[in-house]
Order: sequence, then C-alpha cells, then structure tokens
Amino acid sequence: MKNVLITGGFGFIGSNFVKNLLENDNGIGYFPIILDSLTYAGNKTNLDKLNKEKYIFFKGDICDEVLVKDLFEKYAFEGVFHFAAESHVDRSIDGPSSFINTNIIGTFNLLNICRQYYTESNSNFKFIHVSTDEVYGELDHDGYFTEDTPYNPSSPYSASKASSDHLARAWNRTYGLPVIITNCSNNYGAFQFPEKLIPLMIINCLDWKLLPVYGDGQNVRDWLFVDDHCKAIKTVYENGKVGDTYNIGGNNEIKNIEIVNTICKVLDDIKPSRNGKSYSELITFVKDRPGHDFRYAIDAKKIQSELGWFPNESFETGIERTINWYIKNEVWWRSIQDGNYKQERLGSGV
Ligand code: NAD
Repeated sequence: MKNVLITGGFGFIGSNFVKNLLENDNGIGYFPIILDSLTYAGNKTNLDKLNKEKYIFFKGDICDEVLVKDLFEKYAFEGVFHFAAESHVDRSIDGPSSFINTNIIGTFNLLNICRQYYTESNSNFKFIHVSTDEVYGELDHDGYFTEDTPYNPSSPYSASKASSDHLARAWNRTYGLPVIITNCSNNYGAFQFPEKLIPLMIINCLDWKLLPVYGDGQNVRDWLFVDDHCKAIKTVYENGKVGDTYNIGGNNEIKNIEIVNTICKVLDDIKPSRNGKSYSELITFVKDRPGHDFRYAIDAKKIQSELGWFPNESFETGIERTINWYIKNEVWWRSIQDGNYKQERLGSGV
C-alpha cells in the first residue's frame, strides 16, 4: 500500500479528492490517512458512501506537532496532500486569526515535520501544497495569471495562503523537501459548504430566500468543477516536477451575476418555485465585499502541455450536476443549517 496523508480530507475538495484517488487508483494501492480537525467546514458524512476500511481518520489539528510526528512515525507517508485550511474570504475579514494559525502556522508545522522524516532513500515522497489563484491578487479586464505572476494578495485569506506558499517553496529551496505547489481557480461541485457563492445561491433559491449579489455582480471568476481539480492534483503528484508550481483552471471566466442568473434559469426549468415565480426575482444587490478582487483568470497551459491534464466538465454540465446534487442532498445541507450557519451575511467589514 502507498500511505498518503490527506489534511482537510473531510472538507469540500479534500473529501472529493479521497474518493477520486481511490476510484482512479490504477493499481497503485493508495491508502489515505486523513487528518482533519472537523471545523465548521469539515463534515464526516462527506465520506459516508466510502467503505471505512479504505481509509483511516484522525481527528486533530495540523498545528499539533506531537500528533503529526506520531502519524509520520506510524505510517511512513509517501506523500502529503495538504488541503486543510480556513478557506472563506468573508470569514477571514471578520476573524483573521484562525487563518493565520491554520494556513500559516499549520503549514509550517507540516513542512517542518516532513523535513525531519524525508530522507533521500524515501525518494518517492512528495508534498503537494494545494493553494489558490487568489495569491496573485486581481486582474483588470485583460491578461491571465501564469506561474510567474508576482504575488499580490488582497484579503487576509489570500495573504495567509500566499504566506504558506512562500514557506512551502522555501522548504524546497532551502532544505530540498520535495514540494510541488498548485494554484487553482474557484471550485464548485458536490459537498461545498453553503457559504460559498454557488451552493449559497442554490439553497437560497430552494428556500425562496433573497440572493445577495456583492456590488454590481460584475466580478469575474474562473470556475473549475471539483472532480477536474482532484484529477489535476493526482496528476501533479504522479508526474509533476518537484520544486515547480502548476496553475490549474477551467477556462470558464464568468461574472458573478451570470452565475446567479444561470442557477435561477436551471432551477426554473428543473424545479420551478411553488409560487410560480422565477427565482431571478430573488436577486438583490448588496454592499460589496471590502477589498473585493475584480477578476481572476488562470493560464493553465503549463499543466496542459507538460502533464497532459485538461478539464473534462464544461460549466453548463457541471452546474447542472451541482444543482441536481443539492436538490437530492437536502438532508446534508439542512443539517449544516441546523448547526451554526444560517446563510447570514459574513465579511461586510463592519
Ligand atoms: P473547506 O473549508 O471546505 O475544507 C477545509 C477542511 O480543512 C475542513 O475539513 C476543515 O475541518 C479542515 N481544517 C481546517 N483547519 C484545520 C486544522 N487546523 N487542522 C486540521 N484540519 C483543519 O476548504 P476547501 O474549499 O475544500 O479547500 C481546500 C484547499 O483548497 C484549501 O487549502 C484552499 O485554500 C484550497 N483551494 C480552494 C478553492 C475553492 O474554490 N474551494 C480553490 C483553490 C484552492
């Protein structure tokens, strides 16, 4: 078996990744060991459909040096897929300290412990640091982020991720730790916590609640279906060049208001509202997010040409699959609503 540590394996992308890795094992024998502290964003039911013998779960914090060392002693990992993070920009505006702890200190702790256990004889070991395109800051109407774009983060979230990227790169250059960094655009798909734009709009429609669009809705994001991101990360682990960075994106630049209009239109067709009105009547423009980056767009030519990865899902099919998933999995998101999240406005800066 090939033991791999998956931090944040019960979050949105992490849990999709665990499933994807096992489904596309290709005889390699991956055995995921998940380390997740189960914050508000982590959810054990995300892996309910998976046979429990296919992975091991440890509830714990990536900042916990003793625990992480114990895991390395016990499992001699051949790879680390580092997903664990505080991931929501709006929450980072309201309370940045957990972002500093998890994203910066937690990443430092993992890198430092990996360094102690990585030896030249364990030549297959790789640390995949999963990051975001938000580290590059905002684009105007033109241009794309390449792997050489200078870092220029705007939010506490993106600044903390940028900081963790710098640490990961430094541990490679200074100590020779085999690190690869991936910077990906906005993901969407099943199991995304409903504070993020796409699931929030879907479940607000289903509850006939207002659809809050920040500012004038003209901000542009480059959307990638989560399965495509998971496949890209696996490709980078198996074939990527140690010390390199790979940008991952879906070539799907869409304005926020267009996303919301699309969700309303699809739902009008497949699940018309009980009152017979279009969901678009719920759209309401609200005060913009402070420091809201105007546009993100990824140039993914490097991972395409060097590693042969291309996204499979178009936005049209991916958004329909996602909407259908939220319709069918009402129990999942209702249980989140019954917890500590009620779709309230976060990160308005007041
Ligand atoms: P998420 O918020 O859904 O999940 C994060 C997971 O990490 C949760 O399971 C949580 O319990 C766990 N976690 C948080 N703090 C922890 C700690 N201190 N110790 C252990 N576990 C902890 O996030 P996501 O959307 O799945 O993002 C995963 C990674 O991908 C993040 O690093 C994020 O920056 C990056 N990323 C996300 C996107 C996106 O669109 N969601 C895009 C690009 C990159």
